[in-house]
Amino acid sequence: MTFEILSVGTELLLGSIVNTNAQYLSRRLSELGFNVYYTTVVGDNPHRLKSALETAAGRADAVITTGGLGPTVDDLTKETIAEFCGVKCVMDEESRQRIIDRFSVGNREIPENNYKQAEMPEGCIILKNDNGTAPGAIIESENCTFIMLPGPPSEMKPMFDDLVEPYLEQFSDGVIRSKSIRIFGLGESKVDEMLGDLMNSSHNPTIAPYAKPGQVELRITAKADTVEKAKEMLKPVEQKIRDVLGDKVYGTGMDNSLENVVVEHLREKGLVTVTAESCTGGLIAEKITRIPGSSECFECGYVTYSNEKKEKLLGVKKDTLDRYGAVSEETALEMSRGALENSGADIAVAVTGIAGPGGGSEEKPVGLVYISICTKDFHKAYKFNFAGSRDMVRERTSLYALDLIRRYIKGDLKG
Ligand code: ATP
Repeated sequence: MTFEILSVGTELLLGSIVNTNAQYLSRRLSELGFNVYYTTVVGDNPHRLKSALETAAGRADAVITTGGLGPTVDDLTKETIAEFCGVKCVMDEESRQRIIDRFSVGNREIPENNYKQAEMPEGCIILKNDNGTAPGAIIESENCTFIMLPGPPSEMKPMFDDLVEPYLEQFSDGVIRSKSIRIFGLGESKVDEMLGDLMNSSHNPTIAPYAKPGQVELRITAKADTVEKAKEMLKPVEQKIRDVLGDKVYGTGMDNSLENVVVEHLREKGLVTVTAESCTGGLIAEKITRIPGSSECFECGYVTYSNEKKEKLLGVKKDTLDRYGAVSEETALEMSRGALENSGADIAVAVTGIAGPGGGSEEKPVGLVYISICTKDFHKAYKFNFAGSRDMVRERTSLYALDLIRRYIKGDLKG
């Protein structure tokens, strides 16, 4: 079965947003063993959308659209596809009720045009949207299947994973299940070197690496007759990966970020953290507080950029700053100690470094960073030399700081 992904939205053509939906769908379809031959982008214009549909339906067995399912007049995907397939849109009572229920939370009034989202192509398969108001739809027309998904990635991804993937199984010669293993602190080439044999020899399950700064995700995909068998096949491969990579594996699941895992571990253990940041300017605190529920495990964050504030707010000694400098193991240690003592937290993390592009020297080059962890019975600083731009140094510093908190909680840091 061949696919075309048709992303609908003028914002995409103007370059206002990046087409991450097409990237996600391409990746998921290829993992499921389907071929994507084309991805197309078209604006919110009914004539050009119709023409793009004609072309796509002429060369693919299935077309997946994203976007244009909203309540406004320029949201035309569903109506245009229905017209193209020669079916009418009619009010679907269950979808209408779901919209009413969604709006009733918080007693919001329902704008009249929101009901348009419950008008569904006659005879279609309705894809419920648990994360927004616009349902998706599947129309199985004679020559082509149209799968319509909403634009916001937070709605599109779960709808694809939970509803479209099981639907597509009928077109595959077996069921496919995947699991993502998330790795921190090793580059893609290092992971490849450590797991090369396993990766090269694995055909079912397959292992595919995806790299991000400081992180690698390994996606294991198994194909079998039943879901149970596919899941069973994933287990030994996951175990082999964990055996080789040890504590570098920080979690599983496609959208499971490092900050998510850290907040989860802190909450599980009932621990509270405090941050003292210089070169990251609050990035670590920002990442932690992005996670819902972080108020239980994050007390406060100090952003002490100047030496004066390192002294005043964190009690770093003037003598330490004069003798060793702001970017030093000694300063990092005193920052984390000060943050812990000032607060009622259980774990303090402090960072100080040279993010660049200026400010480096031979002795202290750009990218030099110290990260310190302090608790009532552990106090240590770690030295890093990060490569890359200012943004990359700051990002890496914040991620390594989070990873040190994770490893401390897991008992992997030795005093
Ligand atoms: P809504 O019900 O929110 O109106 P919709 O299905 O009509 O959803 P659009 O209005 O086309 O979708 O897009 C809504 C938002 O979803 C966009 O502003 C953008 O933030 C995001 N979005 C849309 N298409 C994409 C895409 N291809 N990749 C990434 N994000 C997208």
